[in-house]
Amino acid sequence: MIMIRTIFVLFVLACATALPVAVSAENLTAHEMAARGLEHAEDFPGLISICNIDEPIRDAAEKRSEGEKKQDRSGRRSEHLAPTQVFDNLYYVGTGGVASWVLETSEGLIIIDALNNNAEAEKYIVDGLETLGLDPNELQYLVITHGHGDHYGGQELLVSRYQPKVVMSDIEWTILEQPVLDFSSPRWGERPKRDISINDGDTITLGETTVQLHVTPGHTPGTVSLIFPVYDNGERHMAALWGGTGLNYGPVEDRIQSYSEAAERFRQEAKAANVDVFISNHPTRDGSAKRIKALAERQQGEKHPFVIGNGTALGALEMLRDCTQAQVLRIREGNE
Ligand SMILES: [Zn+2]
Repeated sequence: MIMIRTIFVLFVLACATALPVAVSAENLTAHEMAARGLEHAEDFPGLISICNIDEPIRDAAEKRSEGEKKQDRSGRRSEHLAPTQVFDNLYYVGTGGVASWVLETSEGLIIIDALNNNAEAEKYIVDGLETLGLDPNELQYLVITHGHGDHYGGQELLVSRYQPKVVMSDIEWTILEQPVLDFSSPRWGERPKRDISINDGDTITLGETTVQLHVTPGHTPGTVSLIFPVYDNGERHMAALWGGTGLNYGPVEDRIQSYSEAAERFRQEAKAANVDVFISNHPTRDGSAKRIKALAERQQGEKHPFVIGNGTALGALEMLRDCTQAQVLRIREGNE
């Protein structure tokens, strides 16, 4: 009897680990799936809008009315963020609305995303690095998470002045080489020219630091998400950076399905790496804006506000997985 029960338990466990999304998706309604994602809402209020299955799914290529344009669609406010040393080896030099993270290694700097345009790159990245006592001449790599101009727009200034190698996924380079993009903004600077193409699972090693690069399609077809070590007063932690958050192309079922699957695959990578820090490239999405403020008030001996534990960090990816799955289900239910 014990034997049979053990076999049964093992069978259930095997099913649960092999097919977590597919099994549940068949049984839950869109609303039930969204509710499952929203179990993490308290930890990640900036991700809640992804779980909204009652409003139309946003399509950035569609012209919006003037009234809509003026309204901040999720009610998120972005306040100025000062350049900040977040960990011993990780710095924030973004605006209040979009992030630029800088990873310091023994052989130079890796910068993740370049903001909207050259003026922002100058004001926030170059001046920010100098304020923090870092030398922009040490920039070795610029990783661009995806081909939207709020992440590459300031690249021309950084590349012409400091010559970092520019890294994007092969898929995203190909998209940026199209003559006309899905959508663009007059705020955005020049597109980068193809340099280093990466595929899923590639790594960059600079000095003693190795950065994992994962292709996580969904926000765009070739979005890159990263996993790398960070140190708090010498204590090692692992950070996962999700490279593209919002849905912005309307109710396209297969693209949103790819998002959900990528979130699950990246969750497994983050679990294997024992990630306990979750960040993204928009500080209101991942809570970085609040955590940076909390960090400024951190007293000696207090917990680091970005170190949230493996379970909570994985919760962000479960929320993204389940809420995008809920969007797929609502499309299948005919509720677009
Ligand atoms: Zn984007």
